Amino acid sequence: MDLHDLRRLLAERPGDPALVAEATRLKEAALLDFGVRDSAVCSWLYAKCHHQIPTAAVPTAAVVASGDGSCLLLFNPEFFTEIGADGVAFVLFHEARHLIHRHLYVDEGLRSDPLFTLAAEVSINHVVMTRLRRFGLPVRAVTAPDGTVVREPAGVDPRQVHAEYVRDLEAQGLGPLAYEEFVETDLGVYRELRRMRTRFAPDPLVCVHLGTGADGGGDGRDSDLLLDGETAARVAQEVLEEVARAALRGEGVARDEILGMADRSEGGGEHAARVWGGLGLGALRGRTERTRRVDWWQRWLADTLASKLREGERLVYPKKHGAVLLALGHEPMLVHRGAERTKVVVIALDTSASMSDRVITWITELVGHTDGVESHWLSFDADVMPFVPGERVRGGGGTSFQHVVDYVEGRRAAGGKRCEVEPDAVIVVTDGEAPRVTPARPDRWIWLITDNGDDWPDRHLPPMACHRVRSRDG
Ligand SMILES: [Zn+2]
Repeated sequence: MDLHDLRRLLAERPGDPALVAEATRLKEAALLDFGVRDSAVCSWLYAKCHHQIPTAAVPTAAVVASGDGSCLLLFNPEFFTEIGADGVAFVLFHEARHLIHRHLYVDEGLRSDPLFTLAAEVSINHVVMTRLRRFGLPVRAVTAPDGTVVREPAGVDPRQVHAEYVRDLEAQGLGPLAYEEFVETDLGVYRELRRMRTRFAPDPLVCVHLGTGADGGGDGRDSDLLLDGETAARVAQEVLEEVARAALRGEGVARDEILGMADRSEGGGEHAARVWGGLGLGALRGRTERTRRVDWWQRWLADTLASKLREGERLVYPKKHGAVLLALGHEPMLVHRGAERTKVVVIALDTSASMSDRVITWITELVGHTDGVESHWLSFDADVMPFVPGERVRGGGGTSFQHVVDYVEGRRAAGGKRCEVEPDAVIVVTDGEAPRVTPARPDRWIWLITDNGDDWPDRHLPPMACHRVRSRDG
């Protein structure tokens, strides 16, 4: 939309002043609830919409980009008063999630598939209903000319779509998923809908924010005409960054919401993984939660190690680079591109730290599955010894990180041998309980802190890549 269109919109009669006042009040109340309780994402998104304009130019509500790169919220006052306070919160929430959804899934093939559009509606409405604790869609109360009030639900009902999906699959003799599994991830909904034989007609399934008409709507597509892709992506990214920061500060709603979004995007492809990868969610997740298939620290390690082994890339600390969704939905395995020299990874295991074979096995697999990587294994206490994966770690008295540093930097031998090459990455598995050290290349060090250990490298100056591991099974 250019500034000319915007002026036209602004000039459009917003409607009866009493209606406008009531609709504005409903909108303000919803935004307040988002900020206080319901949604950090919505709160930030609408905080970035500096202009919020009641106008009959849109049938329902829409976030649009104005030519200068900022976003506006346009809302139809009559529609807002028809759906009431609960409906307004629902629609605003839906619209915000749409923006993020579009930001995560950029594949053209997906976007042009009407079934993906439907899957997005199912997925988004499921999330809105869950987060706003609703049992149904917003209901629009329309007064007919004869004075009777007709109440009609607005939007795609995820449970209704699921019921049709179950009927269809059973008719084919296939096994449908239960509702909770069906809606578990965004791409999962799409995958399941593709198993259906009957196709949904787009008409009754129109998005709540598209309504009828408007931007030539009814074709089942998003309000592409109103929303400049570049601006939308930038604003969505800014919103996610704000929410991730709030989550890292310990704000519960933000944390819960952003981790929920990351989980929902499992299997959503490289772009979505990169979006999360840039936000430092690893640190956030590692604190308390365990992900469904792969532990968060495993994803984090795969990603962090990959970043350290990548040729020519400026090395970054985990707070920036942190989370790791590289391996999201996939086996944790690094990909090595091009004919580069062999990379050297040193893995040093603290004999005093409690660690299960599972941790060692996993690291062995991660490093072993990476082409062009040579691994040097050590165990250490007060001394540094060579270690063969599969053997038991020999325990001794006292612990010294400095001796590991001295080995890595070529000043100390292990098993009579010095380290001849400069390692590209050093992974230390430890409880962190020993005098702190500052290696010559702190950017190459990765510290994995076992249960109840001290994660000082995270707070060290300069900070080093550091993450807690769950060393015990289960
Ligand atoms: Zn929608």
